[in-house]
Amino acid sequence: MRVSKLYAPTLREVPAEAEIASHQLLLRAGFMRKASGGIYTYLPLGWRVIRKIEAIVREEMDDKGAQELLMPIVQPAEIWQESGRWDVYGAEMWRLKDRHSRAFCLGPTHEEMITTIVRNDVRSYRQLPINLYQIQDKFRDERRPRFGLMRSREFIMKDAYSFDKDEAGLEVSYKGMYEAYANIFKRCGLVFRPVEADSGAIGGSGSHEFMALAESGEAEIVFCDSCDYAANTEKAELHLIKAETETALDKEEVVTPDCKTIVDVCSYLKLPIEKSIKAVAYQSEKGLILCFVRGDHEVNEVKVLNTCDVLELEMASETALIEGNTVGGYMGPIGIDTNKVMVVVDQNVMEMSNLCCGANKEGYHFINVNPNKDFTPTHVADIRLIQEGDPCPHCNGKVEKARGIEVGQVFKLFTKYSEPLKATYLDENGKAKPIFMGCYGIGVSRTMAAAVEQYNDKDGIIWPKSIAPYHIVVVPVNVKDVETMEAAEDLYIKLKNAGVQVLIDDRDERPGVKFKDADLIGYPVRVVIGPKTLAENSAEVKMRKSGEVQMLTLDGDCVQKLIEMLEKID
Ligand code: ATP
Ligand code: MG
Repeated sequence: MRVSKLYAPTLREVPAEAEIASHQLLLRAGFMRKASGGIYTYLPLGWRVIRKIEAIVREEMDDKGAQELLMPIVQPAEIWQESGRWDVYGAEMWRLKDRHSRAFCLGPTHEEMITTIVRNDVRSYRQLPINLYQIQDKFRDERRPRFGLMRSREFIMKDAYSFDKDEAGLEVSYKGMYEAYANIFKRCGLVFRPVEADSGAIGGSGSHEFMALAESGEAEIVFCDSCDYAANTEKAELHLIKAETETALDKEEVVTPDCKTIVDVCSYLKLPIEKSIKAVAYQSEKGLILCFVRGDHEVNEVKVLNTCDVLELEMASETALIEGNTVGGYMGPIGIDTNKVMVVVDQNVMEMSNLCCGANKEGYHFINVNPNKDFTPTHVADIRLIQEGDPCPHCNGKVEKARGIEVGQVFKLFTKYSEPLKATYLDENGKAKPIFMGCYGIGVSRTMAAAVEQYNDKDGIIWPKSIAPYHIVVVPVNVKDVETMEAAEDLYIKLKNAGVQVLIDDRDERPGVKFKDADLIGYPVRVVIGPKTLAENSAEVKMRKSGEVQMLTLDGDCVQKLIEMLEKID
């Protein structure tokens, strides 16, 4: 490829809307352009990277016996009504009507679609197991599309679905996909970690996320400092903290003027914060939810969603609090009408004694509150967010925190979709049984962005070789110098004929411009040829990642030597 013909419009300025490195660099280096919020065009270099990631995905999926197909983007509402998800998917689902007013959506995921296909064609246990996948654009009208390809509204996903006779079969399929995912992200050059995950709106139970480690990641993970336990903080379960037994005193109402936060209250009353109950109030589709955790703990919203079996949580408004007979800053579990309001209390709080909590009226708190005596919650559960230094739920170690980008997730669905959608097979005895399913997603476009997050410097992107758009760029310093051009063209043609993914920067530009673009775009190897190098019959080879520079003699072996240098880097 000749750079003079390459459509890779680079920008010198950092685009104002781009906050993180991958968003900035993919725009600046001419890999993509924005069409609308969260909707992008992949320009030729970006598309080459995407196709390379897809090729790795295909090889690893095919290796596990999965078969590629392509389902429609536009899906009829009926199949989603059948599974029960049409009404619960919410605003993220992009809905549309045809000219006859029939309802459709743009696929955010394809469990319904694939299950309705398989249920019509699979009859017998002899046809199982099956694993089918596609690579396709998905549509999710995200509440906050941001960070470019990280959280977009139209994005490329690889989604696979496995169908097995029973749980044992599902385990085998799940393990195969888990291994394939580890291979895929390794081959893409990512530093990643599989973690235990919550299964969210997709449902089922038993799930892992593959997290590319990066400070800019939206997800937070914990991992143990001594065993191999790792989980999304949303999911990380916590053991009960055994509290010391104390004689329960009688509760007492006290004035706490201008004490709106738990820290204010405890310092005013001169109480340790572990002796207080902190409240967080949410509005949900089932009404107001008041959550209570120990004063120094935080609420884990995903655990609250699962505990209360609700779909969405928003911070409750002052009006909602007043309707629930409480007031912001002074919320407490005592005297709340649990027929109207859910009172969700963390398991640790129930173990504690002689506590301080809000009295549900402005300027007052209770002290010496004893949960088992003084109030009755609607739910007692583990709703606490894990913190750095907490004990590992599996061993005696302590957990550490890190940030990650979720590049993939695998789920055991069991019969969550096959039952409502009636996807059954006949077993060896002719008995109809529901098919056991799993589903497995990779964010292909997000993976490209994650690689840029992990590999960049002040000059631009540093592509891992496996997904770099091209491997070598040959840069003649002056296209008007006949000898320089002859030598550069000669090397370019020889590399191309040897099957190397090579470019020649034949633009009539100053060398500084070409070097800047080469660094910004992030080709792994740059080969510079000019009168100075030719005086020694050589070229200058620079490795993008290590910055290492070496001279290459332009003799009969030079192509082979370059190929060897390329083989050594990753
Ligand atoms: P998130 O929690 O980040 O919203 P998700 O858990 O809803 O993602 P899945 O349903 O598990 O996403 O989809 C499979 C994969 O698709 C994810 O692991 C992620 O890599 C990718 N993905 C999901 N949503 C987006 C998005 N809005 N933009 C880009 N990639 C996405
Ligand atoms: Mg996910």
